[in-house]
Amino acid sequence: MNLYRLPPLPTIKEIIKLYNLRAQKQLSQNFLLDSRLTDKIVRKAGNLKGAYVCEVGPGPGGITRAILNSGVEELLVVEKDTRFIPGLKMLNEASFGKLKFVHGDILTYRMDRSFPKHLRKEWEDDPPNVHIIGNLPFNVSTPLIIKWFESISERTGPFYYGRTQMTLTFQQEVAERMTASVSSKQRSRLSIMSQYLCDVKHCFSISGRAFLPKPKVDVAVVHFTPLIQPKIEQPFKLVEKVVQSVFQYRRKHCHHGLSLLFPEDQRKELTRTTLMLANVEQTLRPTELTIKHFRDLCCAYRELCDKDPELFSYNFREELRQKKLKMNPELIKEEEIITGTV
Ligand code: SAM
Repeated sequence: MNLYRLPPLPTIKEIIKLYNLRAQKQLSQNFLLDSRLTDKIVRKAGNLKGAYVCEVGPGPGGITRAILNSGVEELLVVEKDTRFIPGLKMLNEASFGKLKFVHGDILTYRMDRSFPKHLRKEWEDDPPNVHIIGNLPFNVSTPLIIKWFESISERTGPFYYGRTQMTLTFQQEVAERMTASVSSKQRSRLSIMSQYLCDVKHCFSISGRAFLPKPKVDVAVVHFTPLIQPKIEQPFKLVEKVVQSVFQYRRKHCHHGLSLLFPEDQRKELTRTTLMLANVEQTLRPTELTIKHFRDLCCAYRELCDKDPELFSYNFREELRQKKLKMNPELIKEEEIITGTV
């Protein structure tokens, strides 16, 4: 049994005062100070005895302490804001070197080199003893989870080690979309992208009042375990394109959004062919489509792309942009100014 606990330390509140760690609004920092909640988040990650954990955005270290107290072998933290380094150094000493920290951006950090190679498991095995835990700002956690979904499909980054589990916080509404079932109001692009690759569990919600400063919304803790067999076996970018197009018109019949996959001159015919190949009723709404429907739509679209390799590069947004520019060449100047090409 691992009886290791951190020695008595200043509280997180005292650490914040000591190092003058006022939360920065522009970095959307909201700190969790209640150790009952930080312990609860860490318990939802599962049994961490002897585990190798990566915590994203440790900040003043509330969750970090709870992870260190759960018997991990090693904790790697990735933090963007240098102001937290002295506090993390203190935790490093108190944990006898179990905590390692990287000053960097989790969106570009390469986790496939972070842990010993011997931890690697076959994809079909039980998940490896590698975990990701984090309470990130909402504007980072959503793009990050999309990036990690792509890494799951490629078995790269954190998923080089196998089916690495993740326990992360999201805005309540985003968590509801990720776990939404067919026909529910929250069913969206994110529901399909999460559920075709992972077993997704909404663990519990935390009132915004528990954070310092208080965010405008409540927060939810979500646990992800990558599936052995993705429910759609097609390249990530293809699935993303089909799902995004279909949900473009979420209240209309699904053929409207689906048709955006095809150039105007072939739109009607190829939309009909896709629906027929996939055996999907054109009057279903995007929210009424199951993952199996999406799987069949992706397979049908793939079949058409294999016949005409140029089809996949068709992008209706780009076409729309070109049309707008033709109608109003002044927009070219505006665009050049925005993108900094003049
Ligand atoms: N984990 C702490 C807690 O629960 O009290 C802090 C949470 S605060 C919402 C988010 C933390 O993530 C901040 O410390 C912030 O500096 C850090 N952060 C924000 N963007 C990041 C990024 N791209 N990479 C790494 N850390 C980031």
